[in-house]
Amino acid sequence: MITVPVGTKDILPSERPAWDYICNIIHDTFKAYGFGEIRTPVFEATELFSRGVGDTTDVVEKQMYTFEDKGGRSLTLRPEGTAGVVRSYIENGMASLPQPVKIFYDMPIYRYEKKQKGRYREFTQCGVELFGAAGANADVEVIAMVNTILTRLGISDIQLVINSIGCPNCRPQYNDMLKSYFSDNEDKLCDTCKGRLQRNPLRILDCKSHDCNCLAENCPKITDHLCPECAEHFEQVKAGLDALGIKYVVDPYVVRGLDYYSKTVFEFISTGIGSQGAVCAGGRYDGLVEILGGAHTPAVGFAMGIERMLLHMESCGLLDNLSAPKPRLYIAAMGQQAVMEAERIAYSLRTKGVYVETDIMNRSFKAQFKYADKIGAEYTIALGDNELASGTVNLKRMSDGTVQPVKLCNVVDMF
Ligand code: ATP
Ligand code: MG
Repeated sequence: MITVPVGTKDILPSERPAWDYICNIIHDTFKAYGFGEIRTPVFEATELFSRGVGDTTDVVEKQMYTFEDKGGRSLTLRPEGTAGVVRSYIENGMASLPQPVKIFYDMPIYRYEKKQKGRYREFTQCGVELFGAAGANADVEVIAMVNTILTRLGISDIQLVINSIGCPNCRPQYNDMLKSYFSDNEDKLCDTCKGRLQRNPLRILDCKSHDCNCLAENCPKITDHLCPECAEHFEQVKAGLDALGIKYVVDPYVVRGLDYYSKTVFEFISTGIGSQGAVCAGGRYDGLVEILGGAHTPAVGFAMGIERMLLHMESCGLLDNLSAPKPRLYIAAMGQQAVMEAERIAYSLRTKGVYVETDIMNRSFKAQFKYADKIGAEYTIALGDNELASGTVNLKRMSDGTVQPVKLCNVVDMF
């Protein structure tokens, strides 16, 4: 027996309605905010991620699916969406488009992680990138967009956590403070964080190890050490959220797992789905376009984990009433001529986009009606020699059993 690889899973037809429901609302909301969809390749040059995401991050250090292709190139299955979108923004000269440029994506993501509930090796992110707007109202707009999605999905119990992690002007001093703070207890840090202490001490705050977390509990807060520009920006973000009535808490220890962020970072956290509670995360990344070879371009975005959204919504019973689509009409047919006529009517209706079923199993009338009932057909007709001869069929509404005679030649126009 060959089984699905560890950390991956099949999304079965019975599960797709929930996916469609969530993703349609997400896409629709993105469009209402003026975002257009992009598709980028599943694999990219490995360097895109080591340079873009940062080589002291968990994602790059531990989680990438990297391989050499037959031409000797090092390629990596994308472990996040932003770097590829930024590459495309630069490569396709999108800087010359009217600004801001608003792009969304819906893509599978690959990370070699320990499989847990809500943590997979292949998962789906829907996200956005907004290029060209430096002001706090761009941050507010993308955060508000997540709120719009949650509201439209009926979700009320997810908490927004925000922070500012400063910029290249103020973060180096803060990093120095962290360095001296953690150096006193270096032996208590996990091995990965020992390495990070010199190269990127901010990363220690994002470590998942219990000891590192305890050690970080009383470390200096970045919000006490922002430069005036970052502090002002953060105040404006908070004021903008207040103005829209969007609730948040400030957590000065949220730093995000990817290196490219600057100023605003945020996470949306569910408390109902266990320890993998972050359903959406993002922030501002004013330096990334330049790091990847473009002109300096302010940018802000987020990514939403769809599997975790599903888990959250399931746990709140918000997906209970979703089911597979039901046929508008089931045409039961008996006899060679009648079966051909049924196929012809079904063909015409399906060409109009109407969901119709008819028998292709050579079942008896009785078995056909049993099946029509099982799949929840809204209407049925029975088509045999008598109906062919009279040119009339009985159209039956299954919900209440009402029957209406209809001319065979008019059935297609009834739907
Ligand atoms: P975590 O702290 O849970 O590892 P992260 O900081 O690595 O999350 P991001 O890189 O910000 O996550 O990705 C954005 C979103 O993608 C997360 O908020 C989460 O909903 C989802 N996500 C991240 N990793 C996984 C995974 N391995 N499986 C399923 N969903 C994931
Ligand atoms: Mg992670």
